[in-house]
Amino acid sequence: MTVSTHAAPTLNGRMADLILFWHRRDLRHADNVGLSAARQRSQHIVGVFCLDPSILQRDDVAPARVTYMIGCLEALQEEYTKASSQLLILKANPAPGVVDLAIALNTKAVFWNKDVEPYSRDRDRTVASTLREQGIEVVTFWDQILHEPKELITGAGNPYTVYGPFWRNWSSKQKSAPLIPLENAIGLSETEQETANQAGVIALPSAKDLGFVWTNPLVIEPGEAAAKSKLGDFCDRAIADYSEQRDFPANSGTSQLSAALKFGAIGIRTVWAATLEVEKYARSDEVRNSIRVWQQELAWREFYQHALYAFPELAEGPYRTPFKEFPWENNEDHFQAWCEGRTGYPIVDAAMRQINEVGWMHNRCRMIVASFLTKDLIINWQRGEKYFMQRLIDGDLSANNGGWQWSASSGMDPKPLRIFNPASQAKKFDPEAEYIRHWLPELRSVDTADLISGNLSSSDRDRANYPAPIVDHNQQQRRFKELYQRQKIGVQV
Ligand SMILES: Cc1cc2nc3c(=O)[nH]c(=O)nc-3n(C[C@H](O)[C@H](O)[C@H](O)COP(=O)(O)OP(=O)(O)OC[C@H]3O[C@@H](n4cnc5c(N)ncnc54)[C@H](O)[C@@H]3O)c2cc1C
Repeated sequence: MTVSTHAAPTLNGRMADLILFWHRRDLRHADNVGLSAARQRSQHIVGVFCLDPSILQRDDVAPARVTYMIGCLEALQEEYTKASSQLLILKANPAPGVVDLAIALNTKAVFWNKDVEPYSRDRDRTVASTLREQGIEVVTFWDQILHEPKELITGAGNPYTVYGPFWRNWSSKQKSAPLIPLENAIGLSETEQETANQAGVIALPSAKDLGFVWTNPLVIEPGEAAAKSKLGDFCDRAIADYSEQRDFPANSGTSQLSAALKFGAIGIRTVWAATLEVEKYARSDEVRNSIRVWQQELAWREFYQHALYAFPELAEGPYRTPFKEFPWENNEDHFQAWCEGRTGYPIVDAAMRQINEVGWMHNRCRMIVASFLTKDLIINWQRGEKYFMQRLIDGDLSANNGGWQWSASSGMDPKPLRIFNPASQAKKFDPEAEYIRHWLPELRSVDTADLISGNLSSSDRDRANYPAPIVDHNQQQRRFKELYQRQKIGVQV
């Protein structure tokens, strides 16, 4: 770890209060609400990040995601060094890890940004009460969303459960401007650094040191500077055609900012301000519409975060009660075939190869494979949700759970039953089968029409060692609808 050390920090001749800023999913020094407030309170400020075994030992942690996170932490340590301070690393449960560090350093206050996830909220309550018992002040903020949950409620005073009205309210509200980066801080003195080391501070380990091996190149470069540059590139070009291009998985029509937004490598106010800036110079209604459509995606992200905050039980199961008893068939061979991209449906298999190889999947394909798992294979969506978390670089509880519940029709969506036909989806969104050929190179020479319909000749299949469809879409669709009606989920299909 690079450490800059100082003599004992003083302000106007007296010791300045030390503030600890606890980073979690806000791995940046700019546009960070809590960090900015902490810096305003005191110049003597250091960051801390806790590698929490309760998270890292879960069975749904993706090696690509940990590798991305470590890359972000490395970049953030450099930013702290430039600001004359340090980002300290702990490998411990935050209670007692962060608490012990705060006590050892005689910290005046610990600041952090709030989260919406049930585990994080419980953890934060414990850390906050333990710190307060020790006489250490706790100061928390909303940072990862543009509007905090209590700001956005229905006329009847309830949380929103439908996206349309949420979007209308959310988009009508004034949004905060980005905040300035951390600079000119005073980090730990040599003695304090020594104390911190004794309290458990370690050098930043690699993902491999933590037991997560990701050998492929990261599809998304980690760190704040990389996220900012991605946002800049997207706003310079693709955002103008976003509404037209975003559904074609063979094109790079989307921002690929999801991992940065998940870990807070970029501030949401910075992202929003960038959209307003391009809007200012938009020359046509088409471009203005595209920008709006992208802003709506940012609102989806926020909708799902608000939903999880209001209904923490979403993390455990379906929003709609009748789904709790749904007779999923959960055929293990089918599940394995789906995971491995060997269902015999080229668009589904291509998408599963993408997630397995690079740890990211295009949104259109996430919807296709999720519909296929739940409606064609009749496998519980929670298995798919977990598999995605085990692979995705951007795996995020609220967005992933929201996406899966939407696809399974178990969520808040007012149009409950959607069944995607893989062939129609491929025809519409991969008309030249470019995406399919890219991820299933063994099928490169097969006719486009066959790749789209999935009706490959047996000689094509044999040549490529590619499986026949494991289920019949039309038959399974009928079967799913029957089960759905039987459960009295009670919607017109
Ligand atoms: C089954 C399923 C699982 C998903 N799992 C995740 C997940 O674990 N993590 C995740 O970040 N997104 C998830 N999504 C949403 C979406 O697929 C990704 O956010 C998107 O593909 C990321 O690519 P991008 O950054 O280029 O998106 P863009 O199209 O450029 O969108 C910009 C940003 O808006 C947000 N966003 C876009 N679409 C959605 C959406 N439908 N729901 C919530 N936020 C959205 C993301 O933060 C994204 O980076 C899931 C969707 C489905 C259908």
